Amino acid sequence: MFWDKDIETIDRPSLEKLQFEKLQKALSAAASTSFYQKVFEEHSVNINNIKTLEHLKDLPFTTKQDLRVSYPDGMVPVSRSQIVRMHASSGTTGKSTVIFYTQKDIDDWANLVARCMVATGTNRDDVFQNMMGYGLFTGGLGLHYGAERLGCMVIPASSGNTLKQIQLMQDFETTVIHITPSYALHLVEVINEQGIDPHQMLVSKAYLGAEPYSEATRLKIENQFGIDAYNSYGMSEMNGPGVAFECTYKNGMHLWEDFYIIEIIDPDTGEVLAPGEEGELVLTHLNREAMPIIRYRTRDLTRIIPDQCECGRTHYRIDRIKGRTDDMLIVSGVNVFPSQIETVLMSFPEVGNNYQIVLEREDNLDRMHVKVELYSKMFHGEIKELEQLKARLRESLRALITINPRIELMEPGSLPPSMGKAKRVFDNRSI
Ligand code: ADP
Ligand code: ZN
Repeated sequence: MFWDKDIETIDRPSLEKLQFEKLQKALSAAASTSFYQKVFEEHSVNINNIKTLEHLKDLPFTTKQDLRVSYPDGMVPVSRSQIVRMHASSGTTGKSTVIFYTQKDIDDWANLVARCMVATGTNRDDVFQNMMGYGLFTGGLGLHYGAERLGCMVIPASSGNTLKQIQLMQDFETTVIHITPSYALHLVEVINEQGIDPHQMLVSKAYLGAEPYSEATRLKIENQFGIDAYNSYGMSEMNGPGVAFECTYKNGMHLWEDFYIIEIIDPDTGEVLAPGEEGELVLTHLNREAMPIIRYRTRDLTRIIPDQCECGRTHYRIDRIKGRTDDMLIVSGVNVFPSQIETVLMSFPEVGNNYQIVLEREDNLDRMHVKVELYSKMFHGEIKELEQLKARLRESLRALITINPRIELMEPGSLPPSMGKAKRVFDNRSI
């Protein structure tokens, strides 16, 4: 099933031709903003010299800091009267950045999200409950407009208020949910606590996004709910959700190349890497009137999956996001991504639905402390079993990250649940 078969299955030469045409337009729009005028001048860029897609790499990157500096509207080439909406990033790593949209931008975005949803088999008969926060965050309204465009019945539940969510799911026979993976783990626990069997509910799909999570967490959510979970990727700078999405093969996310040019760079040198190599994702928005953004450094680490997907879509897939370049922890000189720790924890069947990583400095040494919830049945057995589990967890983590963490086993529900983007790492070392 396709939303726009011609464009989703376009052959690569035609796609590249289309990209180049759109790039030229995006560049001239960008060049008319005060921000890019200055940047292009500083880097002696003449956009007329960009004669092929290859030349894109001659242009400077745009960073989150650039968006902060040009706040609020230094990157906007259209007049205020053409703008119909703004959104802002969640501000995970500092001051939020603001994004503007014209009516055409909103329409294009809704179509793109509808395309994503159709790629997972959703159709107008579905009841879609959107458990992402509404408001400035793009996760709420982004999927909302796409699902309406597709013709689903949309329940704009927003995040939190878990008992109400469950009631809505039951009363209106929700079939598709959109939720952060951390909140999904909490939701399913509460459903069970209410004496409801999640497998008996009508929900058959979850769209999981907004934060990094491991394949083991996906499987956990799928098994506990009895559903298919699809990875959904986006960021406000590139509209919001709808940038890349899994199809029914659930093997990497199709990044819609008629809207975005993908580059993967070495985060240290800025050099463009070959398809298949892991690095930082850089995106150029080809389709936005109110805010053209060229070579945006997402800081997200992934790779292009270069081979063709079985679904017939020709747009490249990107791999699950490993984390952000600025998520990386340096513990006793070792580089560790929280996602590596999650992969280990969630591969243990005894481990429940929440965990925290706490870093401390004791006697000038870095100490990693992993607090992990177990399923309640684990606390009915013998203490010895818990001690053995602790040792096995510690050993598996040490084998992967070469750090010997202190493990604390906790009862389910003892760590604070997350309703939106989870905060799981607490670095107390600088304090
Ligand atoms: P902020 O950068 O302030 O968090 P956004 O709300 O726009 O702003 O969030 C976008 C970021 O969320 C992405 O750059 C990425 O780091 C993360 N993200 C979104 N979807 C996913 C996903 N499916 N997997 C991993 N990370 C994701
Ligand atoms: Zn596919």
